[in-house]
Amino acid sequence: MDSATFRAHGHRLIDWIADYFDHPERYPVLARVKPGDLRAALPPRAPEQGEPFERILDDFERLIMPGVTHWNQPGFFAYFPCSACEPAVLAELLAAALNQQAMLWRTSPAATELEEVALGWLRDLMGLPSSFEGVIYDTASVSTLHALAAARERAIPGLREHGLTGSNRSPLRLYCSEHSHSSVEKAAMLLGFGHRGVRKIECDAECRMKPDRLGEAIEDDRAAGVTPVAVVATVGTTSTTSIDPVPQLADICVKQRVWLHVDAAYAGPAAILPEQRSVLAGCDRADSLVVNPHKWLFIPIDLSAFYTPHMEVVRQAFSLTPEYLKTSGGDVRNLMDTGIQLGRRFRALKLWMVLRHYGAAGIRDLLAGHLELAARFAGWVDDLSDFERVAPVPLSVVCFRARPKAGEWTPESLDTLNERLIDAVNATGEVFMSHTKLDGR
Ligand code: PLP
Repeated sequence: MDSATFRAHGHRLIDWIADYFDHPERYPVLARVKPGDLRAALPPRAPEQGEPFERILDDFERLIMPGVTHWNQPGFFAYFPCSACEPAVLAELLAAALNQQAMLWRTSPAATELEEVALGWLRDLMGLPSSFEGVIYDTASVSTLHALAAARERAIPGLREHGLTGSNRSPLRLYCSEHSHSSVEKAAMLLGFGHRGVRKIECDAECRMKPDRLGEAIEDDRAAGVTPVAVVATVGTTSTTSIDPVPQLADICVKQRVWLHVDAAYAGPAAILPEQRSVLAGCDRADSLVVNPHKWLFIPIDLSAFYTPHMEVVRQAFSLTPEYLKTSGGDVRNLMDTGIQLGRRFRALKLWMVLRHYGAAGIRDLLAGHLELAARFAGWVDDLSDFERVAPVPLSVVCFRARPKAGEWTPESLDTLNERLIDAVNATGEVFMSHTKLDGR
């Protein structure tokens, strides 16, 4: 594409994006397509000859846009929604243009060092200790996988060389609660703990892991010849945003010499607010922690911030330098050493630009506004006689259901009513909400 054509399309696209941000109401929040619609609308083979970009953009609007679910829509209330803020979108444009591949310091000194700086800023904003070194992965699932790989490396000397064989054959165990995210179990499956190697610890009535049960479980397992490797605590669980008692869990992990990983993927940024600092209480004693700016810091997917005071263990688990990647230059961080990926995108640029664009004060205002909205909505639910809240609202998620005063309801008929209600609400295209089950309901 020549530069004049690139400019023309670039300007048109920026205008298109600005209009998209200005008028989210033009689109139904939940895509109204059926499975297979897009596939059927597209040719089965790539074109033999190149096509004009105008035609490609027309097809983008005509064919692709109807299949888009609009996460930026103000009516998007499902999952952990995150809107893509403008400075981050511009940063992504630059990152694509610069095409930085930050595997080694020398293949992108800027991406390597900006990652360190921006993650340091975020860490300090959340009040985590300066001993926590950060690295960016794409998602929390991958951050947790790396945390548990490091935990396994530390727990089983020689693992890196010998694998899960020989003298280290005792079953490995990982502890989390029934409210932990499924990424913990996926990591366990991948790392050789096995699904059965995950022990789910009972929770209290507010969906928080019970520390005494954790202590008992670890002791039972040791007595039975099992090797306890790691505990995953969650700060902001997926269903109700409950917060595990990290200070007590940290005591147990220190005593039992097991790795404590904290999944603060969603709730971590709340700690930027002084009045919410306590959400990360005890996390200064964690062995690793993940927080996702793509969940609650206005960063378009993907950007997951992983912190640990033991980055040398992560390196021990992951570094391997073939001849063609050897470098002779000084004391530098090579990001390929801290993970399974070799090539890495310049994600730090969007974090740095967003932190600078809003400033700490602007971010605090936005987060406080989100908490205020959730509290206001929870108040509305509490005031309605036909609805009820079904979990505390410590942060920005409100779990509620319909429970009409009139009529006789069984647990099953109430479930059916709520299923029909959420489907009907989502079919309006005005809002999109997602569901969960608590105690099977
Ligand atoms: N941890 C928690 C608590 C989550 O709620 C989620 C997703 O919602 C994840 C981890 C996984 O996040 P990701 O999509 O970044 O892997």
